[in-house]
Amino acid sequence: MSKIDRQKIMGILDEYDKEDITIATLGSHSSLHMFQGAKTEGFRTAVVCEKGREVPYKRFGVCDEYIMVDHFSDIVNEEVQEQLRDMNSIVFPHGSFVAYAGLDNIETIFNVPMFGNRDILRWEAERDLERKLMTESGVRIPKKIKNPADIDGTVMVKFPGARGGRGYFVANSTEEYDEKIETMMARNWIEEEDIKGAHIEEYVLGCNYCIHYFFSGLKDEVELMGIDSRYESTIDGLVRVPAKDQIDMGVNASYVVTGNHPVVLRESLLPQAFDIGDKITEGAKGLVPPGFNGPFCMQTLVNDDLEVVVFEMSARSDGGTNTFMNGSAYSYLYYGEPLSMGRRMAMEIKNGIAEDRLDEIIT
Ligand code: ADP
Repeated sequence: MSKIDRQKIMGILDEYDKEDITIATLGSHSSLHMFQGAKTEGFRTAVVCEKGREVPYKRFGVCDEYIMVDHFSDIVNEEVQEQLRDMNSIVFPHGSFVAYAGLDNIETIFNVPMFGNRDILRWEAERDLERKLMTESGVRIPKKIKNPADIDGTVMVKFPGARGGRGYFVANSTEEYDEKIETMMARNWIEEEDIKGAHIEEYVLGCNYCIHYFFSGLKDEVELMGIDSRYESTIDGLVRVPAKDQIDMGVNASYVVTGNHPVVLRESLLPQAFDIGDKITEGAKGLVPPGFNGPFCMQTLVNDDLEVVVFEMSARSDGGTNTFMNGSAYSYLYYGEPLSMGRRMAMEIKNGIAEDRLDEIIT
């Protein structure tokens, strides 16, 4: 199936009444502050919601319109798209939207104007593309070990599609790598195919900071909007167990995100945070034009050499933005009032309309 023609989306946008725009997204992930922010900026809001999942939107009162569907994935159905277009909707993408709508569908059949660059979503989803973007942009990432025989320090081993870090493991030598692979094979946790696709990288011993940026296409500038850190099961539960019992339990740690907490970086690290944001947005301009547009997140670990190492990115609003629905220490510095990521997105749309430049920030 061929990719959506940009001109087609621009044609739809042309037809929209710019005085009567709806901000729409799937009711999940980081949609609450998108709706709240959009309402604050004077937009109507519409949630596409799976039946039974509407409670937060009703109770927090952040949505004007409800498009109820049997399954989240129905957001790509033609009649749902039609309802969205009829409301002059601009869709705000987030992690669940991408997961449920599906990347292929977003690229080929989802004919509703979206905020951001739809082409960049794939660069987050495919590990090789993600690494290419980061390396070519000059961002420090964990070193990759091509051959298990070359392991000469602590490494983390990741498997394709192992979302939430299930089945990821740490090894300190080639022997330990081989042993753990064998155990996992014996338990049917992985197959031959997974071993071929195993990705081995330097284990970064440090603290987790997920840095949320907003790239304003209108201002051609990156803003540092907030930072969170994650609570992950089972790893965060395991570290509360004494070492002896950890060994007795014999469980393999997983990294399923169950919540987030807001954090700040020590101030002397902020230049690195800005540098990473500047580098990746510059790099993306050439590799996947027009590059980043709107929210994105760099997930980092900071070691005791005070290096900020990026191990993963989100090319759209990341779930950790929920830690600053009422603003973060950083977004406050720009605007002098509590500002969420969702509200910053809505502001960009509002400015795009006012400056008649919506076409630059919508795909
Ligand atoms: P997924 O996207 O499948 O959830 P991630 O790549 O985000 O997997 O990794 C899951 C967790 O593993 C991260 O939150 C982080 O705590 C840890 N992690 C990932 N890469 C490294 C690394 N190179 N060194 C140390 N810890 C890591």
